[in-house]
Amino acid sequence: MEHFTTKAQLQQFLALQSAKGKTIGLVPTMGALHNGHLSLIKQAQQQCDVVVCSIFVNPTQFNDPADLEKYPRPIAQDIKKLEDINCDILFEPAVAEIYDNNEHWHLNIGPLEDLLEGKYRPGHYQGVTQVVHKFFDLIKPDVAFFGQKDYQQVLIIRRMIALLNMPVKLIMCPIERETDGLAMSSRNIHLAADDRKHALILSQTLNKIKQHFDINNIPALKQQAEDEINSKPGVQLDYFAIADGETLLPANKNSKITIALVAAKVGHTRLIDNMIIAG
Ligand code: AMP
Repeated sequence: MEHFTTKAQLQQFLALQSAKGKTIGLVPTMGALHNGHLSLIKQAQQQCDVVVCSIFVNPTQFNDPADLEKYPRPIAQDIKKLEDINCDILFEPAVAEIYDNNEHWHLNIGPLEDLLEGKYRPGHYQGVTQVVHKFFDLIKPDVAFFGQKDYQQVLIIRRMIALLNMPVKLIMCPIERETDGLAMSSRNIHLAADDRKHALILSQTLNKIKQHFDINNIPALKQQAEDEINSKPGVQLDYFAIADGETLLPANKNSKITIALVAAKVGHTRLIDNMIIAG
């Protein structure tokens, strides 16, 4: 595997690949790789000739400095996992390689930015669009792979691509779960044993709402979901939404896709999950 830490090295290598007519797939991550990340890389390997995985804990998308500080960074293990699945390139830049001091520009993506995650993590999607825009510019991927786990992020990037006519195809990959249903996340390692058990309420509730979904009964379903999640010790719900899969506004009879999305603090760890429940 090629391991680059500078833009110049990466671009030089990719220019050679493009000249040979190879297609480039990009899987952006913040590291602490788990099977969810690896499933994106495997999908990229099926669709592209050369796969770049980036590991960059992007400071501009953290609204909480303590969260940034404690974000896991097991780089040696990550490199081993990438080598084991034959990833072609790891791009692992330092912050100064990506940002100038005091960089403050931001793309206005519209209302999607301020809903749900955007409301609870002000500025989060400004940071996401900054870094993904920079990586698209630098790497010029033919295809970029993102997880449904961060569904709102997928919608934001899709909107950015459309607004700026970026020549990249976006693929959304399914959520990988532990055998008991917990969505895989780099943050799960912070869960204490009890919290790990209580965290199951998120995927269990999503499943239940999917089973009982009825477009005429959304307020009651939402209330039931909120009550069940709030009844678990150590779980503090931020939101449970039953939303239109394109706008993330409340679902309605015209919604082509209906999705339930949840965010909660479990112990000290904030988790998100979602499930497409109709469409
Ligand atoms: P992160 O390192 O958390 O920024 O995630 C990097 C990419 O992996 C994002 O596109 C995520 O949506 C995706 N991802 C994270 N968790 C999962 C999962 N459990 N299953 C599939 N993809 C995931």
